Amino acid sequence: MRKLVVGNWKMHGGLDANAALLGALREAGGQGCPSAVCVPFPYLQQAKSLLEGSAIAWGAQDLSEHAVGAYTGEVSGAMLNDFGCRYAIVGHSERRALFGDTDERVAAKVDAALAVKLQPILCVGETLDEREGGVTEAVVERQLKAVFERGGAAALAACVIAYEPVWAIGTGKTATPAQAQAVHAFIRGRLAAWCGADVAARTTILYGGSVKPQNAAELFGQADIDGGLIGGASLVAGDFLAIVAAAAS
Ligand code: PEP
Repeated sequence: MRKLVVGNWKMHGGLDANAALLGALREAGGQGCPSAVCVPFPYLQQAKSLLEGSAIAWGAQDLSEHAVGAYTGEVSGAMLNDFGCRYAIVGHSERRALFGDTDERVAAKVDAALAVKLQPILCVGETLDEREGGVTEAVVERQLKAVFERGGAAALAACVIAYEPVWAIGTGKTATPAQAQAVHAFIRGRLAAWCGADVAARTTILYGGSVKPQNAAELFGQADIDGGLIGGASLVAGDFLAIVAAAAS
């Protein structure tokens, strides 16, 4: 099954608010579609205690490209494994724009995640300037190719891909279903060319960028959109659950 909905809490949360949110998700169950939440590092233990045994998986929003060593402030994939993570988001546009994650470092992080059997959620997407300059496909191809060139077809094939146009993240501006579908189809085409038709057919490609209960069903109705990476709306239990339900139907 290709469907998946993942919440990206970003730097939001607190013990009490998290307990209420995670409790509501747990109570609602899986809603017929695999789902997960990627929480800030300090709350991984809380996510593990409250979600273990439920239909909802959890993960981190980043990881170090290094396995161990003198890297103050970094968190390794093995540490994420200690907290039962299934996923690690890699290459989110906020990490790329604000924290120096180059294509090469993102590719190294994908390798670091795979080395400890975490599934990377590899984010790709263009800025508004890039879209208006007509280079959306070239940008997305470059971001994917960095992973392919470092880790080969196996690395790319092991990722969930999240297409997140930067201009749609947290802005309330969603790509139209047709705009998103066009890029998703392009990504699936690149996967077919580099990794083979089977991999392309089974890879989960999520859309992210101001997904809300109101627009989720139409986006997820597109042939190559397999679910969503959800920022703001994942902080409200009812909204996140409605989006998961939209992916299931
Ligand atoms: C995100 O942070 O990955 C995201 C898609 O955010 P939002 O849903 O708030 O646009």
